[in-house]
Amino acid sequence: MPAKGKHRRPKFLRIPRSIAVAGTGGAALALPLMGAVCAHASAPAAAVPAVVQKVATVSVPAGIAAEKTAPKTYVVKAGDTLAKIADREHVSGGWKKLYADNRAVVGADPTAIRPGLKLTIAGQGATPSSASAATRTATATAAKSVDAGYTLPVQGATIGTGYKVPGSMWSSGYHTGVDFVVPTGTTVRSVAAGTVVSAGWGGAYGNQVVVQHADGRYSQYAHMSALSVSAGQAVTEGQQVGLSGATGNVTGPHLHFEIRTTPDYGSDLDPVAYLRAHGVVVG
Ligand SMILES: [Zn+2]
Repeated sequence: MPAKGKHRRPKFLRIPRSIAVAGTGGAALALPLMGAVCAHASAPAAAVPAVVQKVATVSVPAGIAAEKTAPKTYVVKAGDTLAKIADREHVSGGWKKLYADNRAVVGADPTAIRPGLKLTIAGQGATPSSASAATRTATATAAKSVDAGYTLPVQGATIGTGYKVPGSMWSSGYHTGVDFVVPTGTTVRSVAAGTVVSAGWGGAYGNQVVVQHADGRYSQYAHMSALSVSAGQAVTEGQQVGLSGATGNVTGPHLHFEIRTTPDYGSDLDPVAYLRAHGVVVG
């Protein structure tokens, strides 16, 4: 039974593993813990109110200025999509041109780019006129069709515990999300545009945010040290929803990330497969 009134304060506290897995049996210790996994010993408890520090929302810079550039090589990074690269590198013709120019290395699936892949980016002309700006807008719209509107929730992360790793420490019997190992204080971003359906204390999940997206799926961001959004708020792709942390039942700082078919625990899908299906490179 969730201990009513047992108030956990959200703070930068590393809970020793021996405490985090207490009472869940020794099996949990056999898992490849890597020092930062979830230990959801119980289903998310009825919300215990907690004071959550608000942090300023950081807007994502979106430089559009076009300039003359020579052809160059671009190395794909985690979180990239062809559409994003085309946009960031100001590729005339957008992702379709970028894909056409690199068809040989990318292969048949434009969403299947992987970190380390080398793309050739053609040189640019002069600053575009308003007419070509209109073309760019049309291209951006077309790029949406390959899910330009998705991003990684955190940058520079390695994956700790993967999806569906079995373990008695989780009430479902398996890990319902994926753990991105990042230090406390790392910016956590909404993976796509949507509406915040909850932002607050989530029991074993610590400080968490759940966002509903246009495709009817929900993304969840857990164990955060601070929240930047409130329930009911609209968010854009890449907008900061909080800072990563180690609140709730954890053995160390990380972002626990889920994709769900409902706002609630127990409706999880493979989050990495979901991001990849939307063209996001997951390292
Ligand atoms: Zn987790």
